[in-house]
Amino acid sequence: MTAPNLLDQLHSTFGFSAFRGVQERVVDRVMAGQSTLAVMPTGAGKSLTYQLPAVALPGTCVVISPLIALMHDQLRAARANGIRAASLTSADSEDYREAAIDAFRAGELDLLYVAPERASQGHFRELLSKAPVSLFAIDEAHCVSEWGHDFRPDYRALRPLMDSFAQVPRLALTATADAHTRADILAQLGIPEDGLIVAGFDRPNIRYQIRHRDNPVRQLATLMAEQPGPGIVYAPTRKKTEDLAEKLAAATGRTVLPYHAGLDPQLRAANQAAFVASEDMVMVATVAFGMGIDKPDVRFVAHAGVPKSIESYYQETGRAGRDGDASLALLLWAADDFARARHRLGEVEESRREGERTRIDAMAALVETAGCRRALLLRHFGEDPPEKCGNCDNCLEAPGVVDATVLAQKLLSAVYRTGQSYGFGHVEKVLTGAVDDRVTQRGHDQLSVFGIVTSDEAPLLRPLVRALQARGSLVPTEHGGLALGGDAKAVLKGDAAVMIALAPRQERGRKGRRDRAGGVNPTGDPLFDALRALRRDLAAEAGVPPYVIFHDSTLREMAQVRPASLAELAELGGVGTRKLEAYGDAFLTVIRQH
Ligand code: ADP
Ligand code: ZN
Repeated sequence: MTAPNLLDQLHSTFGFSAFRGVQERVVDRVMAGQSTLAVMPTGAGKSLTYQLPAVALPGTCVVISPLIALMHDQLRAARANGIRAASLTSADSEDYREAAIDAFRAGELDLLYVAPERASQGHFRELLSKAPVSLFAIDEAHCVSEWGHDFRPDYRALRPLMDSFAQVPRLALTATADAHTRADILAQLGIPEDGLIVAGFDRPNIRYQIRHRDNPVRQLATLMAEQPGPGIVYAPTRKKTEDLAEKLAAATGRTVLPYHAGLDPQLRAANQAAFVASEDMVMVATVAFGMGIDKPDVRFVAHAGVPKSIESYYQETGRAGRDGDASLALLLWAADDFARARHRLGEVEESRREGERTRIDAMAALVETAGCRRALLLRHFGEDPPEKCGNCDNCLEAPGVVDATVLAQKLLSAVYRTGQSYGFGHVEKVLTGAVDDRVTQRGHDQLSVFGIVTSDEAPLLRPLVRALQARGSLVPTEHGGLALGGDAKAVLKGDAAVMIALAPRQERGRKGRRDRAGGVNPTGDPLFDALRALRRDLAAEAGVPPYVIFHDSTLREMAQVRPASLAELAELGGVGTRKLEAYGDAFLTVIRQH
């Protein structure tokens, strides 16, 4: 059990009344001087597990973090809570670094952030011997493993450094590590096996939605209308990011900016900074965007094309809703995305081809499933989730499931009999018995498949061809025709079934139900709006993003509870002592005026 004074500290420093998930187990181990590897998904609150002990324990907690931008975000947030924190990086000025070193030696720092390359230098070790160290916190700990996706050799020098301070506990943190990588991190950082704590992967506040891409601009504009907060739209190419950004801005009147690696670096940095500071901006970006940004109030992540794997999809959608508020992940897919990905398999090295194919198949299964999306995702990561989550499109509105095996056989044999070189339009005509010049010239009206699809079945042909393309039973030819692939023969022989999920008529039924998954903030509440305006002013004054002052959830509580005194304000989530002193009176004044 956690000591009561630690809970007091949790409240006074961070304004939180309880731990979340595995935080308590992690903090308890750290406080007991035990080394730990915590695997926690994005948004689970990793930083608190070292920041709280850093405040509670005598001495300084040394944090190793690989990205300077991330480090500075965390530093800013820690300082806003009154934690004594500094960094030692190449981006800091000489004077700043000297002051940080002096503060460390004088025992005046709770947190000292360093980059791994500095941590491995001899004089850093010497510096650490000059004042007590309470804890080594190793952020993004998967960087120490060659099995991880982001190996950094500098992380290997951490072990010898930490070994020379053997009595100091170690806390390694990561959001992504499969079993193999976890074992490697434990070994590389000298953490006992029983020090592994793994939180579930689930992000219950994210609602998963997957739709066919009929009209991306309209579909995304609809999403933006329902989600007034900040959002990210991932687009597959640089050109598409610019194109979509322009069209979405025109369609919605909101600020929408592009981001990709080809933009002028200054413009790119400016767009990113604008996004981080904004309460309602949308960034249309390639996947280059997002690493090293931990904006907590991203309300939606949309994909305008199919990501390359479930892992990427989960990582990218995971950038939504770190603050725990309801958020949306919308994926728009088309058969083309899969056709192209499968086509590219031909260029992949033989040894990697099977792995790539499996990744595409897994994505196809995700978009095609009529079952719970979250359950499929979590099973992919080795968990054993309940069958239904209640917060994905399929759970909220079950799609129709149709056994289309016979229709698939008709379609596949028409493709086969017409010579595997025509596109869907022609094949559809043959199947439905529509005659045009091309059909008659080629003699396709004489084939046994001519006109074998009934008018009842005909509307299913299009969703069916998408499904068959997604699962690879139909593949594109070089000239845009369709050919048999994958399990097509098995389907034709009756050895494989084809079930297709038909989305409920969500897009067409414009008057239909509108689930405002992300619309958790009140609209038209003058007090809430005024509190936000004050937050904006204070943020501008302090040169920090608004969420560093208070999260939306705290402002919502303020508007609802209407605290009348500092003591009442202190009871709200996210209001620690420091913020109470710095901003309490200003917010109370606004509350009184409304
Ligand atoms: P991670 O690094 O694991 O992605 P963060 O450390 O950035 O997550 O925390 C995510 C969010 O959760 C932050 O906005 C933080 O304020 C909030 N948070 C963390 N711990 C708690 C808690 N015990 N109660 C309420 N909110 C919390
Ligand atoms: Zn579900």
